[in-house]
Amino acid sequence: MNLTALENVSVLSSRVIRILAQNPGVGPLQGTNTYLIGTGANRILIDSGDHPNVNPAANIEKYHQLLNEKLTSVNCKIDTLLLTHWHSDHTGGVEGIIKSSLGLVSHNVNIRKFRCGKAEDERLPFHNSYTSHLVDREVIETEGATLRVLYTPGHATDHASFYLEEDGILFTGDCILGETSALVENLTDYMKTLNIYKTLDKPVKKIFPGHGPVVENGAAKVEEYIQHRMKRENQILECLKKEPMSTDELLASVYAGLNDKLKPLALKNIDVHLEKLIDENIVEVLSRTEQPLKYKIADCRL
Ligand SMILES: [Zn+2]
Repeated sequence: MNLTALENVSVLSSRVIRILAQNPGVGPLQGTNTYLIGTGANRILIDSGDHPNVNPAANIEKYHQLLNEKLTSVNCKIDTLLLTHWHSDHTGGVEGIIKSSLGLVSHNVNIRKFRCGKAEDERLPFHNSYTSHLVDREVIETEGATLRVLYTPGHATDHASFYLEEDGILFTGDCILGETSALVENLTDYMKTLNIYKTLDKPVKKIFPGHGPVVENGAAKVEEYIQHRMKRENQILECLKKEPMSTDELLASVYAGLNDKLKPLALKNIDVHLEKLIDENIVEVLSRTEQPLKYKIADCRL
């Protein structure tokens, strides 16, 4: 798929500037979108870009330079760093930003994300710098912008999204991407997250994703993501209604004709669907002793 070329720095609204973290790659696509929020002398930055130890293609110096140019031109500093989730392409740049000799952050910078688990959080190099963990539905304000924090797991257990009240913009991190589909770790949680987006008490006008271009019709994209997952789930159920199947057999039926390179991702997708359906007692394993495992519609559903 040809990805849309993104500008390094884009003014997206009177209170949001997107700065591309200069870390292109298979996972980060064009690179991670980082967003500078607010209109005053102290601003919020959502996400931080990569660590070169994890992504050697990450050009940290160039990213810091772009950030510095923009911060200088609008005469502000970062006083709050909000992280959508722990994955390195979103948190790997935290230390670099706070320690940069360019002075990108103000004196008492706040660094905040949701808790993922003590051990996981303690593995993050900057964990000692946390100010506090995010709280679902809390409101974070800066001059010119009000962000509502949403706990939105599914892509990762600690995933946060942020709703910008003034503009009706939803920052979805990696739960909804600008193009290509999102990777899901836990589909039960992920579907709940999509439902949270769908049932916000205020309209989702645009989506500013963690990767890729702005989504102009946010509400329609949320619905498209929900329908896409439901269609896939129904395809899997239709197959299993005919006969018990292994994941490879499901892959061949549900993703007939798929390019070999994409098969590992498609298998992962089938796995997360099966986990969700097993969780919901809709599907069960045919026999634990037979390899490869085959899946069937649960007896209680027949
Ligand atoms: Zn990402």
